[in-house]
Amino acid sequence: MTARTGLMVMWASILTAMLFSLAAVIAAGAGAQTLSLVGKIVVIDPGHGGNDFGATNRTYGLEEKEQNLDVAYKLRELLYREGAAAVYMTRGGDLSNPGGAKDPGDDFYADDANPSNTQRAEAANSVKVNGKGADILVSIHMNGSTNPDVDYTTTLFGKWRKDKESAYAIFGDNVNPPRINPPTYGLRTLSAVNGKGSSWGTIATRDPYSYASGVLLKSNMPATIAETVFITNNEEGKRLAAGWTGKPVQYDPNNGRQQQIAESLKTGVEDYLATH
Ligand SMILES: [Zn+2]
Repeated sequence: MTARTGLMVMWASILTAMLFSLAAVIAAGAGAQTLSLVGKIVVIDPGHGGNDFGATNRTYGLEEKEQNLDVAYKLRELLYREGAAAVYMTRGGDLSNPGGAKDPGDDFYADDANPSNTQRAEAANSVKVNGKGADILVSIHMNGSTNPDVDYTTTLFGKWRKDKESAYAIFGDNVNPPRINPPTYGLRTLSAVNGKGSSWGTIATRDPYSYASGVLLKSNMPATIAETVFITNNEEGKRLAAGWTGKPVQYDPNNGRQQQIAESLKTGVEDYLATH
């Protein structure tokens, strides 16, 4: 080996090592978990249940309690995929028995139970993983109106200091100006379905507002009620019905409206937990 070929061999091995490390970075990026969710503990509260159907869409045979639960299961899976340490549901938890009585796989109450607001908050407060409580509580709802044309998204907060920032993050905006336009995370990224959304094609909005719910006021962690979409809206009803299998599922290969809602909630949770 001459000095010259020796140098070339050295350069070749350096180049090979560089390529390998570049490939490793690319591979890590492809399968990387979002740092903000790694190790985080999330409680999801599917609104209503049991005899309390929530809002309904009679045209499409939809009950809010079922749709909330479906979105909750989808959100849980998305959060786990992004590295959350633990995700609890105030009702449900065992998808092998959706709608059934409480079984050992359910986190707190059965899928179709209707715990009180206090019981939901207490369930969230009781979560402890390695001595650490839940980082955030997201209560999932769909709104209702007697006017089938109405559709917008919003979130509610209870205590300003505890809840307001999480409510805005899940809504998809800053608490203070500048507003984020077009939206990049949270419920505001949902597509408009009735042609009356924003100029960039996303759902109409109502700014987050204060609401005295026991779920929000009695929980210890930042908590938000997400009024995701109007189940009573004609076009939302059509889309929700198209994505509804009759039972909650964790992942919707058709990327239905429920999956979209879960994705938008996931990005809002992610945004909040990245800075809290
Ligand atoms: Zn509701």
